[in-house]
Amino acid sequence: MKKINSKADLAINGSAPAFIEKLHVGRPNMGDKAAFQKYVDQIFENHWLSNNGPLVQELEHRIAEHHQAKNCIAMCNGTIALEIAIRALDLTGEVILPSYTFIATAHALHWQEITPVFADIDPVTHCLDPASVRKMITPKTAGIIGVHLWGHAAPVNELQQIADEHGLKLMFDAAHAFGCSYKGKMIGNFGQAEVLSFHATKFFNTFEGGAVLTNDDELAEKMRLMRNFGFAGMDNVIHPGTNGKMTEIHAAMGLVNLDNVDKVIRRNEENYRAYQKGITGLPGLSIYTFDENEKNNFQYVVLEVGDDCPVSRDEIIEALHAENILARKYFWPGCHKMLPYRELYPHAGLLLPITQRVAEKVVVIPTGTSVTPDEVSFICQVLIKLVEFS
Ligand SMILES: *Cc1c(COP(=O)(O)O)cnc(C)c1O
Repeated sequence: MKKINSKADLAINGSAPAFIEKLHVGRPNMGDKAAFQKYVDQIFENHWLSNNGPLVQELEHRIAEHHQAKNCIAMCNGTIALEIAIRALDLTGEVILPSYTFIATAHALHWQEITPVFADIDPVTHCLDPASVRKMITPKTAGIIGVHLWGHAAPVNELQQIADEHGLKLMFDAAHAFGCSYKGKMIGNFGQAEVLSFHATKFFNTFEGGAVLTNDDELAEKMRLMRNFGFAGMDNVIHPGTNGKMTEIHAAMGLVNLDNVDKVIRRNEENYRAYQKGITGLPGLSIYTFDENEKNNFQYVVLEVGDDCPVSRDEIIEALHAENILARKYFWPGCHKMLPYRELYPHAGLLLPITQRVAEKVVVIPTGTSVTPDEVSFICQVLIKLVEFS
């Protein structure tokens, strides 16, 4: 492969350097600053900072409505929300999940002395493969955590069927799936509970934050207790618990960003389609596609580098980084290859061939409201030159 050393090699116009410092994956989408400042004034007037304040309640109400789910329980982050949901469902022993996910999905189990059992994924959707899930069931299995990776729904019906057959609990890590749907039904209505993340880098953020969506009122009540030390009114603790509360300032950011989500989706989708168009015909390169009939937030543009591509995945990342385009590998090398799992289950990879293959070929490229169509076009030019030079 010919090395590309500079922009001169790529013969790309000089307007690039002005914008390149912000071309990185996960740059936060931010709503209206003046609207946020109004909420700050309100917080100071109310003198209510945490403990289920009015802004948290409003945010919960609006997020539940947005997903047409009965209950939304806001939390301080997605990981604590996962831990609380796992505990509220009384999961113990072994729980099946994909390895191709953010490490928090596995850690939320391990942290509570539950054994994460990694199942393989589908090569097209990158979500759990039901056939592999079936193979992982043992007498110790208590539940399944599906992940709606990239906002694409996990195979919820097949997983529910497996859960029903074996008497297992089913929940979802929906950290990527804010505002997404499956067969026309909003995420937040599947399994016993679904967990959102509102981390700064996610499609919708509250600086840090998360929530559990569930249609089970009893489970919702249990999780509300658990996120506030088990307090039921003053001086009355009736349940084990932790501190998973969201604060008013975080909720304020959420309310502001919620008014912005349609705009973010529009921009994301524009970028996604421009990338798809821009790389058409390049050998071995493709963009992960979403079902046109479903709602999607298009928060990730996932470039897949096939074996027939003249440049390797790592060479592509290196070349993009040289242009200050901070593309990233994602969920590489898979949870099963990170500590402590790599040492606890050294042979897990033998049963995860698709996970290992997908983890080697994915590059997530920049999108979001701060990435313009011109910048997408610039990134596509870099990819085109890279493939042509090789
Ligand atoms: C971001 C993320 C989490 C963790 O959420 P935090 O809010 O950062 O704690 C969990 N699972 C997945 C798949 C994620 O992408």
